[in-house]
Amino acid sequence: MRQIAIYGEGGIGKSTIASNLSAALNEMGYTVMQVGCDPKRDSTRNLAGGRLIPAVLETYRDQLRVGKDEYAISLDSIVFKSPGGIYCVEAGGPEPGIGCAGRGVLTALQILKDLKAFETYKIDVAIYDVLGDVVCGGFAMPIREGFAKEIYLVCSGGFMSIYAANNIARAVQRLSRRAEAGTGLAGIICNSNGDETLEHSVIPEFARRLGSEFVQFVPRTPVIQACEFEGRAVVEHSPNSKEAGIFRDLAKQIMENKKTVVPTPINDLTELEQMYRQHLNKK
Ligand code: ATP
Ligand code: MG
Repeated sequence: MRQIAIYGEGGIGKSTIASNLSAALNEMGYTVMQVGCDPKRDSTRNLAGGRLIPAVLETYRDQLRVGKDEYAISLDSIVFKSPGGIYCVEAGGPEPGIGCAGRGVLTALQILKDLKAFETYKIDVAIYDVLGDVVCGGFAMPIREGFAKEIYLVCSGGFMSIYAANNIARAVQRLSRRAEAGTGLAGIICNSNGDETLEHSVIPEFARRLGSEFVQFVPRTPVIQACEFEGRAVVEHSPNSKEAGIFRDLAKQIMENKKTVVPTPINDLTELEQMYRQHLNKK
């Protein structure tokens, strides 16, 4: 089974990329499970017709309330098959204001593992859509616990998004040294903020500096938003669009790319700024 995690700063488009990637992989014939590791539980909304599916932790808490343990949870109360055939899971989170999102994600992932969700549904590819905040425990859990192996960073050409991706690469560097062999950064995905000239110039260099590869450019377009509004993935809702082709290409590249690296982040902020400025000046 391939275990792919999508990381990036808050709001950069992780759930958009994850759900459209899952749908494209499903179309290619792979059995896919998407696991949202965010208390917002909106990761799989684009696959589930716009609805928010019940989260593992909610179901778990309901079981505890009636005196049962995790083994009383049935897989079909936490794994939901989308109309397109993708297995969707939302980890959920602690009660607001109480508890740690990291513990929550870990509990949810552990329940999936204990209940043999991946074996039961014969999953070929698991996609983890992970919280972007590096100081939150929810960030590290999927890597530390051996769930996420191939890590893709999403960023745009905005400086702060590259800055955040570089910080995430630092965390991945630390974590992948301790994780199972083969765990590491697999590539950078650009989810455009509209400044395409700058993005096509700065992101390939940023990827090189991390010791990684620039995998795909996803433009900012109304088609992606229209599909989101309908709660559908692009390959399902607008299969003949240019955007559908882009997600199919992303899926194909990810399946072909088996290389991961321990990233080499830029440790000096001035150096990161200089790299960025050079590309800004080229415009
Ligand atoms: P969070 O960190 O809050 O979970 P996220 O990284 O998962 O956020 P998304 O929810 O995927 O981000 O995207 C944020 C918003 O940006 C969404 O409303 C989505 O429609 C929009 N968006 C993302 N990518 C694109 C794109 N390529 N074109 C148009 N709109 C996009
Ligand atoms: Mg999200």
